[in-house]
Amino acid sequence: MKTTAISPARITSVVPGSIAEEIGFEAGDRLVSVNGARPRDLIDYRFLCADEVLALEVLDAKGGSHQVEIEKDFDEELGLEFETALFDGLIQCVNRCPFCFIDQQPPGKRETLYLKDDDYRLSFLYGSYLTLTNIPPAEWDRIARMRLSPLYVSVHATDPHVRSRLLKNDRAAQILDHLSWFQSHRLQIHAQVVVCPGINDGAYLEKTLRDLASFHIGDAPAVISAAVVPVGLTRFRPDEDELIPVSTDKAREVIDQVTAIQADFQAELGTTFAWLADEWFLIGRRPLPLEQHYESYPQIGNGVGSIRLFLKEFDELAKELPEKALSPRTVTWVVGNAVEHAFTPLVRRLNQVEGLTVNMVAINSDYWGQEITVTGLLTGQDVARHLKAQMQDRELGDYVLLPSLMLKQGDSQHPEDTYFLDDMSLASLENELNCSVTPIAGLPQLIDICCGKSAAHLSLSQVAMSAKLNQVIDPTY
Ligand code: SF4
Repeated sequence: MKTTAISPARITSVVPGSIAEEIGFEAGDRLVSVNGARPRDLIDYRFLCADEVLALEVLDAKGGSHQVEIEKDFDEELGLEFETALFDGLIQCVNRCPFCFIDQQPPGKRETLYLKDDDYRLSFLYGSYLTLTNIPPAEWDRIARMRLSPLYVSVHATDPHVRSRLLKNDRAAQILDHLSWFQSHRLQIHAQVVVCPGINDGAYLEKTLRDLASFHIGDAPAVISAAVVPVGLTRFRPDEDELIPVSTDKAREVIDQVTAIQADFQAELGTTFAWLADEWFLIGRRPLPLEQHYESYPQIGNGVGSIRLFLKEFDELAKELPEKALSPRTVTWVVGNAVEHAFTPLVRRLNQVEGLTVNMVAINSDYWGQEITVTGLLTGQDVARHLKAQMQDRELGDYVLLPSLMLKQGDSQHPEDTYFLDDMSLASLENELNCSVTPIAGLPQLIDICCGKSAAHLSLSQVAMSAKLNQVIDPTY
């Protein structure tokens, strides 16, 4: 495991009305220590601040040192936001998975696009997946001592040889021992399996799901849930890799296989336990499962049930849709073409509002070389190309909206900027299209803008906030 020394944590914003604002903290200040201890990450910081009396050591933007004493309720937050959750740097991956999305990018982009996150702290804080192959004993002790649970683990295969082959790391073979460790410490994980046809599918997939389910026992099961995700490939991957794209037939085969296993789990465990990511149904051209199939949506962060949940949320909000927009407007809404079919009824319903015209522009990514693309992978170049073509036929209207999950937060040089996965900034896209583009963080905001209830623009800090969770690319996208 490779980390850097702990740096004083740079504060990027101070919550209005908070203790920190009252004391006079400003963006650009740096937090050195809390009660004499130097936090190495947000987890330490939160733990240290859960006290009634705090002594903070702070550096101001000019480097001046200050001692600050605070009395507060033990659970009251200070109201500080930091540039990063990791004050000692990202714990990077030591594997070499052939399907790694980071390695399937073109060279020469921003440095942060090539960071391979395999950090248990981001897994605990934000739900990113890790492999457990780079954790030394002291960090295992910390996970147990601080009860850092649940974590999100890329299992891929429980067969030791197959997992080592996939991760290209002998240490990957220990996965069943690691799962037993979580069980014996009464800590929990969510698991994912990225299916690579010809490597970990078929009998290996069945064994993996049944092995994982064997840890789903008791009142606090070590494995809470599993997601089965198709491998995602781009045109930048090396020629000599051993990967086969998931075809329509393969998707149907996996859907049928996992559906049968889910029925066994329902009978044995009382839960579906292992869910198929939405992409299987899109690639396989099969209907999405019904809402009740997803139970409490335990794998929503992994794209499992996200379309069904979106449609459910829309049905609720549609009950409150006005008959008429506050003022006539035309909206262009950009999404990945993977969701075009599912979202068409939703657009039809919006267009029943008098004075409102919503044009959904469902596009693929030529940048990645994909015929079918999920929204989160669309790049600035893809959006620019398709919208320019669109503009030849008709105007883009009053608003161009795109989901903020396409955007990543800028690096430390440009923290307020947001970028697409191809490194194009939102501002560059607006320049190229010569119109403003509004990132939307969710369905309520989409509806508000369509019906004229709220300002069309998120503030820069709102965009940065929604892009913050996307700061590190999910390498198994
Ligand atoms: S997919 Fe994840 S575990 Fe595999 S090489 Fe990439 S970052 Fe590492």
